[in-house]
Amino acid sequence: MDPLKICLVSSEVAPFAKTGGLADVTAALARHLHKKKHDVRLVMPFYRRLRGQYDFTPLAQLQDIPVRLGARTYHFSVSTAKLPKSKLDVYFVRCPDLYDREGIYTQDEDEHLRFALLSRAALDMCQWTQWAPDIVHCNDWHTALMPLYLKTLYAWDKLFARTRTVLTIHNIGYQGVVGSDKLGELGLESEKRFLYQEDLDEGRVNFLKTGILYAHALTTVSVTYAREIQGDELGMGLDALLRKRSDSLFGIVNGVDYDEWNPKSDKLIPHRFNERDLRGKEANKQALCEKFGLEFDARAPLIGVVSRLTAQKGFELLPDILPVLLHRDDVRLVVLGNGEERYENYFNWLAGAFPKKVAFQAGFDNPLAHWIEAASDMFLMPSRYEPCGLNQMYSLRYGTVPIVRRTGGLADTVAPWNAQTREGTGFLFDEFTPEALLEAVRRALAAWRDDGAWSQLMQNGMARDFSWEHQVDEYIALYRKLVPAH
Ligand code: ADP
Repeated sequence: MDPLKICLVSSEVAPFAKTGGLADVTAALARHLHKKKHDVRLVMPFYRRLRGQYDFTPLAQLQDIPVRLGARTYHFSVSTAKLPKSKLDVYFVRCPDLYDREGIYTQDEDEHLRFALLSRAALDMCQWTQWAPDIVHCNDWHTALMPLYLKTLYAWDKLFARTRTVLTIHNIGYQGVVGSDKLGELGLESEKRFLYQEDLDEGRVNFLKTGILYAHALTTVSVTYAREIQGDELGMGLDALLRKRSDSLFGIVNGVDYDEWNPKSDKLIPHRFNERDLRGKEANKQALCEKFGLEFDARAPLIGVVSRLTAQKGFELLPDILPVLLHRDDVRLVVLGNGEERYENYFNWLAGAFPKKVAFQAGFDNPLAHWIEAASDMFLMPSRYEPCGLNQMYSLRYGTVPIVRRTGGLADTVAPWNAQTREGTGFLFDEFTPEALLEAVRRALAAWRDDGAWSQLMQNGMARDFSWEHQVDEYIALYRKLVPAH
C-alpha cells in the first residue's frame, strides 16, 4: 500500500517542548509512522527555550511568510531539526512575536493567536511546498481549528481536496475558550455560520468544540476515556456533542517508548536491571533514599509520585490519609511534581513533618522522573480523571506496582491483583474518596509483606507490552479508513 502523507501538528513534542504526555505521544507517534515509511511532517512552534539548543536548519523556501490574523500580519519562517533517535525532520515555526516567550503556554492576551498561527502556518507550509497531506492530525485545543480552517479559508485550494482530518483529545479539561470578539483575529469573522451558535450567542468561541464539530475523525487516548467523555461527569460540557459523534470517536491507548523507558538500557538511572536480576532496582532505591536523606530500609516500601500538580491528578485525597499512614506504617514517599502552589506547599509541609520518610522535589526533572520510576516499589496515581496516563505504564516496565484510580487509561492498562489466581499488575480503587484510596494502599501493603505475591506482581507488570509498535497500527488503520480511494 502507498505510504500516507501525514501532517501532525502539536504545541508540544518531546524532547523539544514538554509539559506532559502530549509531548511524548506526538514524538513517538511521528517516529513510528516514519519507521513504517509514511511521509510525516511534524510541526511545532519554535519556543524561546529552543534557542541555542539542537541543530536547526532554516528551510530556504519557507522564510518570512506572511499570515494575516485580523488586522495584523505576522511573518513566520521554518527551520528543521532531527527528531532524536530518528531521521525524521521536525518543522519548527519561527514567529518571535508570538513564541519568543518564557513558557510553552502563557496567560498572555494573545494565547489564542499563538496557536491559530501554528495551525495556519502548518497549512501554509503544505501550500508553499505543494505537499498534499492525506491526513492532517491535530492535537488538543491548540490546533483544533485546523479542520474548520480547511473547510473555510483553505477550501479553494485543490491541494487539500482529498485531505482528511483527525483530532486527538489528549485532555478534555483544556478547551481553549476565547471571547467571540476574537473571531476576526482568528480569520473566522465571515465564517460565523460554522461555529457553535449557542456559544456565539453567549459571546464565546471554543477551539476544541469547533474541532469536535469538523474533524473527520476524533480519537482520544484510551478506550475507557472515550466512553467517559461522552458522559456528563467527565465530558466537561462537550459530552452531548461527543455522543452525537460517537460513530467517529475512537479510543486508542497511548504507547510507551521503550527505547526511552527501559530499565535494561536506561542511561538516566544509576543502576540498570531486568526482570531476572532485580538487584539494580534495590540499589536505585537505596541511592535515591540517600540523595534525599531518607532512612533506607529494604523492607520499607518506597512509594513514588511523578506528576503535574493539578486538581486532575487527585492529590486532594492525600492530606486525609498520608500523615496517619506515614506515622503508623514504615513507608517512604518521594514526590516529583510541578504545578499549583497549594500542592507544592502541601508536599513541602509533609516532607518537613516526616524528614526521614518523605522527600519532595518541585519542578520538572526528566532524569529524576526515570530514577523515581526505577527506585520505587509502588507508584501512586489517584487521578480524578486520566485520559491515558503514561507513568503507570512506565512503572509496570520498571517493576513498580501502580496504585491507581479506576478511570480512563488507568483502568485500561492496570489489571487488578488477584491473590488467588496470582494475576494482575496493580491495585485499583473506584470511589474518589480518601477511604477508598487508603483501602487500596492497604491492599498493596499486604501484598508487599508477602514476598511471593510481590515478586509475581512485579513479573506480571514487567511482562506487559504497551509499545508503540502495536499502537501505531491502530492510527494507520484509522487513517486508511478515512482516506478516499483513488
Ligand atoms: P499528563 O499528560 O496528564 O501530565 P501523563 O501521565 O500522560 O500525564 O504524562 C506525564 C508525562 O510527563 C510523563 O512522561 C511523566 O514522566 C512526565 N512528567 C510529569 N511531571 C513531571 C515532572 N515534574 N518532572 C519530569 N517529568 C514529569
